[in-house]
Amino acid sequence: MSEFDQYDTQAIVEMDKAHHLHPWQFFDLFRHNGALPIVKGDNCHIYDTDGRKYFDAVGGLWCNNIGLGRKDMADAIAEQAYKMSYASAFVDLTNVPAAELAAKLAQLAPAPLNHVFFTCGGSTAVDTAFRLIHYFQNCRGKHDKKHIISRKNSYHGTTYAAMSIGGKPGDHPPEFNFISDIIHHISYPNYYRCAEEGMSEEEFVDCLVQEFEDKIEELGGADKVAAFFAEPIMGAGGVIVPPEGYLKRMHAVCKKNDILFVSDEVVTGFGRLGHWFASEDEFGIVPDMITSAKGLTSGYMPLGALLFSDEIWEVLNAEGSGRCFPHGFTYSGHPVACAAALKNIEIMEQEKLLENVNEVGPYFEEQLKTLEDLSIVGQVRGRKFMVCVEYVADKQTRELFPEELDIGKRISNHADKLGLICRSIVHLNVMSPPLTMTRADVDFIVDTLRKSIELTVEELRSEGYF
Ligand code: PMP
Repeated sequence: MSEFDQYDTQAIVEMDKAHHLHPWQFFDLFRHNGALPIVKGDNCHIYDTDGRKYFDAVGGLWCNNIGLGRKDMADAIAEQAYKMSYASAFVDLTNVPAAELAAKLAQLAPAPLNHVFFTCGGSTAVDTAFRLIHYFQNCRGKHDKKHIISRKNSYHGTTYAAMSIGGKPGDHPPEFNFISDIIHHISYPNYYRCAEEGMSEEEFVDCLVQEFEDKIEELGGADKVAAFFAEPIMGAGGVIVPPEGYLKRMHAVCKKNDILFVSDEVVTGFGRLGHWFASEDEFGIVPDMITSAKGLTSGYMPLGALLFSDEIWEVLNAEGSGRCFPHGFTYSGHPVACAAALKNIEIMEQEKLLENVNEVGPYFEEQLKTLEDLSIVGQVRGRKFMVCVEYVADKQTRELFPEELDIGKRISNHADKLGLICRSIVHLNVMSPPLTMTRADVDFIVDTLRKSIELTVEELRSEGYF
């Protein structure tokens, strides 16, 4: 008798199909296929109800940083749940894990970011940033500083403000309304796809910086623009590593115009790039705000955090102003989630997981790059434990496959069968493995992905595509 015999896969799939609306559910596909039920996790591996084992190279959704199924995490969560499972953090109550975690985050973040607002996840951290930006600008008498600039193809979450700040065209279908009067999108730093023929990386950055300055001008100048949002490396938008100097120069434009720089580190924070936060340590900028979630608890509990600077704090906290920031979630500073985050950080420190990312990350990049010899691999890009493979129909022209072909999904379907989970986003396969990944795991991922791509090429050939 195996531990998986207790599950009736078909019954679970049908129950799920009948009642569970999934995030980003494609209704027609889902009606036929349903979803794969996952019942067990062990470090980098997940198991379905039939006991099939997969290496999860996506780390859940870029969030499994310390590995799944850890007894020490389960114990820390259980202990806190038993001791005190909930206490509100509203107004004048607090709890010990929330206070300790806020202090710990202030210690790990770039020097002036000493203040934390806890949220339920990444989207709510971005929404909190959005509200705090306007509140801050109003408190300092800058009532016209309302405009927000972000980038096309960025992803900042799924709530109303976060989705409006995001710029992925597919996320902005006509069925929805978005905040469009004060949120504006400028070009994103994809040198491979967006630079003009013959343009150097430096010239490309010049253009992007110029576009930013022009947008500020168009909106009425520095007195009208409140903040700029950017992921240090764009995640869901296709793992776009910005060209050298881009973030520093965008940051300098912000400073010159008194515009807050919000670094969305929901993916890049907590070790994915080998640092607690990537903004300063990987890219040399100190933002005014950092949004974080995911790796903060490695997905063991839902939690997000907005970190912000002393400068912002001092305006909010001005003696005698009588101010109150009217914002908060029932679960802001949830003690069990904060206890999970504290344990998660302790594990990362004790097991030197950031060091592992810095050691194995370059090997991962280098090995994955070898896939560029395959006929449909246009570019392998990314950094350390945040990478992606882009597929093209024609390497010379960089022409993409038709969207209906769903090339990324075809390849990831083959990979599934070979025991590897890698997320497909149209013509991409995206990976963000647990920070515990070893060199042997890298070899498995690269070999399996190679086989999956080769099988897909054969399949396309047999369908007469080539
Ligand atoms: N910001 C970024 C950069 C993200 O990648 C995500 C989620 N993938 C979010 C915000 C939203 O986080 P959540 O799904 O936890 O709300």
